[in-house]
Amino acid sequence: MKEVKSPRKPFIYFYSIAMIVIMLLNIFVFPRLIQPQVEEVPYNTFLTMLEQGEVKEVSKDAVQITFADKADPPKLYKTGLMEDPSLVEKLQAAGVQFYSPIIEPASPFLSFIMTWLIPIGLFLLIGRFMSSRLSKMGGMNTMQLGKSNAKIYIESKTGITFKDVAGQEEAKEALAEVVDFLHNPAKYTEVGAIMPKGVLLVGPPGTGKTLLAKAVAGEAKVPFFSISGSEFVEMFVGMGAAKVRDLFKQANEKAPCIVFIDEIDTIGKRRESGAAFGGNDEREQTLNQLLSEMDGFDGSKGVMILAATNRPEILDLALTRPGRFDRRIPVELPDLPGRVAILRVHAKKIKLAPDVDLTRTARAAAGTSGADLANLINEAALRAVRNGRKTVNQEDLDESIDVVVAGYEKKDRVMTDKEKKIVAYHEVGHALVAAMQMGSAPVHKITIIPRTSGALGFTMQVEQEERYLMSKEDIENKIAVITGGRAAEELVFGSITTGAANDIEQATKLARAMVTRFGMAQEFGMVAFDQQQSQYLGGGYTNTGSSETQALIDSLTIGIVKDQYARAYKVLEEKQSKLHEIARVLYETESLTGEQFMDILNRPALLEEGTASAEA
Ligand code: ADP
Ligand code: MG
Ligand code: ZN
Repeated sequence: MKEVKSPRKPFIYFYSIAMIVIMLLNIFVFPRLIQPQVEEVPYNTFLTMLEQGEVKEVSKDAVQITFADKADPPKLYKTGLMEDPSLVEKLQAAGVQFYSPIIEPASPFLSFIMTWLIPIGLFLLIGRFMSSRLSKMGGMNTMQLGKSNAKIYIESKTGITFKDVAGQEEAKEALAEVVDFLHNPAKYTEVGAIMPKGVLLVGPPGTGKTLLAKAVAGEAKVPFFSISGSEFVEMFVGMGAAKVRDLFKQANEKAPCIVFIDEIDTIGKRRESGAAFGGNDEREQTLNQLLSEMDGFDGSKGVMILAATNRPEILDLALTRPGRFDRRIPVELPDLPGRVAILRVHAKKIKLAPDVDLTRTARAAAGTSGADLANLINEAALRAVRNGRKTVNQEDLDESIDVVVAGYEKKDRVMTDKEKKIVAYHEVGHALVAAMQMGSAPVHKITIIPRTSGALGFTMQVEQEERYLMSKEDIENKIAVITGGRAAEELVFGSITTGAANDIEQATKLARAMVTRFGMAQEFGMVAFDQQQSQYLGGGYTNTGSSETQALIDSLTIGIVKDQYARAYKVLEEKQSKLHEIARVLYETESLTGEQFMDILNRPALLEEGTASAEA
């Protein structure tokens, strides 16, 4: 795909440089070159030379006398005028040629043309030229306010195709159909099928929506207009609407073609019913224009509108009703095979060591998006270079998962011995609780190297296979694992630290969700009190329910977390010797793989139990 654009360097830039150069030449260089050297002499020198017959020719004008001597080539002199009535006689006597040039007054008509018309004409010409360049560049142009700057994409050989988009098979299939329709509309119209006018790609950030649209542009042999929703947001009221109008005018002229509006939620946000003060007039006008444009053309003409958003729930209902964006293609986070495929696509660009197992990496990177995975591969490649290697090995990939999940290692953070010990016990607490209960994902890695994200360490668990459902017990187990860190601190040191803040937040969220969203509390049954505000972006919840139910929700949530904490504490108490043993190893090595962890856990207990409890 090649973007057609005018050159980046503004014309005015070259123009002004040329002007300055010419001016400098005019002032300093040209006069010297053109005018012969003239020596200024006193008047009496002139008279002396005249008397001695050295002067050949004299001219006198209003300000000075210029004269030439008899040398070959003649040398030029000049001297100021003097009150000298006998000058003509002296000149006659010396027999030189002398004259005074006649200065005719310039024709008023000619001088008018020279001094006014030509400069103004030139000025206008340059201005016009520059403004047309500016408008092509899509810059701010006062002469053509509201002209759209939708970019036209044309096909080219380096284009992105469906092959570059890994996984997302359903989305690709649906889009391939759209492309096929634009190529052979007859095939569809014969049967009487009408293509949807608009196709909406929805899904979390980084899952490849924009990439898919680019692939459509690469596959379709029709013009592709691409614009981002934010480009419609303008400073002046009415300009966004004008842009929409302009975009569709262009599209209609170029049909069949595809119009892609990225991040459509910026303009497609639901209009407020009671907006009395017109705070969002501009956006509303733009949306109205978009709606009416979409109604205005008939789909058979072959203008296909593609849009992408990660906030479909805030789109105006008028936008998603049939006849507008009536087809919705979900672009979800990739599953395990999808992640493997995405890693493969991006790994093509780097050199992999032969022993690398991308499936292992994909499994560990559960819950990541395509963009995360692309980033992961790049991080691994950077690490390989940093370590002076030519190929990327498994270790690079493992480490870059940690980077993507938890941030870089923070080498300059110095922890005291005591802190390091606490963190070690905390992390082993998580890991031990996970290992001691059925159905918990196996421990993949434990580390106490601080991260730039602020974590002082982390325990990573990796599911063996993809899970789509969690039972009540699964969630309870998870909460127990999360509370295991704090439980270990309390058990071993008898005191607790702030290090568990993040754990506490997670445990609370899960426990609350059990009560308010998953219908897992007997007191309520299948009633939802919390609604997620954004399907793909996570985050905020809107809460419904009376203040009495709130109080009950809170106490149930507290109860769940307390129960699981008690369970975790009990598990750790039973396995106390292993807790000490593993924490000591972790303290020394700072990192343990899942296998190392299981090895220590499964080997016979150490004999010297006594030293173990003397920690802290
Ligand atoms: P979105 O528009 O959904 O937020 P993008 O399309 O901008 O996400 O994806 C960002 C980057 O992530 C892409 O440029 C690509 O490198 C990578 N990526 C995302 N999904 C995929 C995929 N399915 N296959 C290959 N690369 C992907
Ligand atoms: Mg995008
Ligand atoms: Zn923790």
